[in-house]
Amino acid sequence: MNTFQYWKPEIEKMAREDLLALQLQKLKTAVGWALRTEWYGKRLPAAGIKSPDDIKTLADLRRIPIMEKKDLRGSFPYGLLSLPLSDIVRLHASSGTTGIPTTIYLTAADLDRWTDNMARCLYGTGCTKDDVFQNMITYGLFTGGLGLHQGGERVGMMVIPAGAGNTARQFKMMQDYGTTVVHATPGFLLHCESKMREEGIDRSKLKLRKAFAGAEPYSEDTRKRIEQLLKIDVYNSYGISEMNGPSVAFECQAKDGMHLWEDQYIGEIVNPETLEPLPDGEKGELVLTCLCREGSPILRYRTHDITSFYTEPCACGRTHRKLHRFTGRSDDMMIINGVNVFPSQIEEVVMAMPEVGNNYLIVVEKDGSLDRLTVKVEAGPGIFTDDTRQMTALMDKIKHTLSATITINPKVELHESGSLPVSEGKSVRVLDKRPKDM
Ligand code: ADP
Ligand code: ZN
Repeated sequence: MNTFQYWKPEIEKMAREDLLALQLQKLKTAVGWALRTEWYGKRLPAAGIKSPDDIKTLADLRRIPIMEKKDLRGSFPYGLLSLPLSDIVRLHASSGTTGIPTTIYLTAADLDRWTDNMARCLYGTGCTKDDVFQNMITYGLFTGGLGLHQGGERVGMMVIPAGAGNTARQFKMMQDYGTTVVHATPGFLLHCESKMREEGIDRSKLKLRKAFAGAEPYSEDTRKRIEQLLKIDVYNSYGISEMNGPSVAFECQAKDGMHLWEDQYIGEIVNPETLEPLPDGEKGELVLTCLCREGSPILRYRTHDITSFYTEPCACGRTHRKLHRFTGRSDDMMIINGVNVFPSQIEEVVMAMPEVGNNYLIVVEKDGSLDRLTVKVEAGPGIFTDDTRQMTALMDKIKHTLSATITINPKVELHESGSLPVSEGKSVRVLDKRPKDM
């Protein structure tokens, strides 16, 4: 019988010093696991760490070499396995947003720990066994599907393994089964709202009250937009497959930053150029150490995700530090005619404008020797007309608001609602058509 309790105040509200002591103890264990792998088996001794006892304080973490995605790819398929394959019960892989997907391996105990962590997150948003949870995200190798599925079941919710896409089928299930909670990418939630309006779905007939949204960056304005349009609470969920996937950091009911579960992960914020640690509160790249997976241990992994720690405690009383909403990946940055532009800056501007609908696309092309940035946006409900003067005025407004933020002049195109492409998994927000070698 599983004795797990998904609400563990003695862990979630643990005094900081006890939490740090627990981290040290678990770090030693994780180093022991890592030493058994081919990859760490060479690198840790070279850094003077030959046994878990060589880790004496948490400061010794810094002696562990930082791992990059290319190291994971280089040790594919089994270079990071710490146990014989017969001890592994599951594998998962990343989405492959930036190249070849990377694979992780879980033992039965790893799977159990991940499920516990996930249940803790869902319970922390106020979900209980009375909820009906429709998981509208890709299943299969992607961790978002089975991850939230297992966590939902452990909380005792009735889980509908709906999978991604097909809005008509999603709405039917919501109505038939009385769905109260959904999980999806923010892009898909916005698409659902547009479709609901188009298809005349009566919101008052749905029992929907919450959504977990993650797997990709989105702004606070996008959260508010989804909340207001769908009349639900939206909780931010951060996951990365190298760290098991979802459940790394999740928002509580305060809806103000995501608690990084520090009894399961050690988070460091580093300067993306020097990889030197930054003080609490400063923005930089998140480096994560997984304390909860024996099958393929990963220590000090460079996520390339940009965020910072909150310095104030959370109203909910949990002591695990919170992470600010991610502004993107350090490798997301576009350089346009020499100017650095993050897609998140564009999203913040367009999603805050009520005239703009629920979808947009950024296109970068070469125009002779120059780069050309085009921002395609869908018009909001009732905004699109044949009156070209009105449309031009709106495009100019969007263009000026954008150029005030990103400091370059984009071309803006207005499209009819529902006409820009929607992806079933992570949204594709940027089409960079420039030749790669330039
Ligand atoms: P891939 O790197 O192929 O996309 P994953 O499927 O493991 O691999 O996705 C993890 C990445 O997704 C993270 O590193 C991060 O960039 C992004 N991500 C996940 N959740 C969020 C979130 N809530 N906010 C911003 N970005 C997120
Ligand atoms: Zn909290």
